[in-house]
Amino acid sequence: MIPKRLAKIINEINNILLPRVCFGCNAQLFSGERILCAVCRHDVPLTDHNYLEENAVDRRFYGRIPIKKAASFVFFTKNGLVKNLLHWLKYKNQEEIGGFFGEWCGALLMENGQLKMLMP
Ligand SMILES: [Zn+2]
Repeated sequence: MIPKRLAKIINEINNILLPRVCFGCNAQLFSGERILCAVCRHDVPLTDHNYLEENAVDRRFYGRIPIKKAASFVFFTKNGLVKNLLHWLKYKNQEEIGGFFGEWCGALLMENGQLKMLMP
């Protein structure tokens, strides 16, 4: 097992040799940034579904299938940032994008207490 300090040094060298770049704009990512730079992260078109009792996704599925709650985390546009990120996720084996959005969505759900509402 690599000691934490050595792992940090190896990561820093790795970042110099192979800089991590934003999936949205190709800008070099700063320390602490992951997948998207701060500017692109700010531009992600988030829905407010997680804050609403009922939303457009709920209404679309209501009565068709048995669900407790449905929501979309982001808006999808034909030529937008989300489309590009999903393309990287689905077709270019960049699974970490899924984890990035999952953690972000989960954090928002935890923040506003939605997960407690969904528990039986
Ligand atoms: Zn960016």
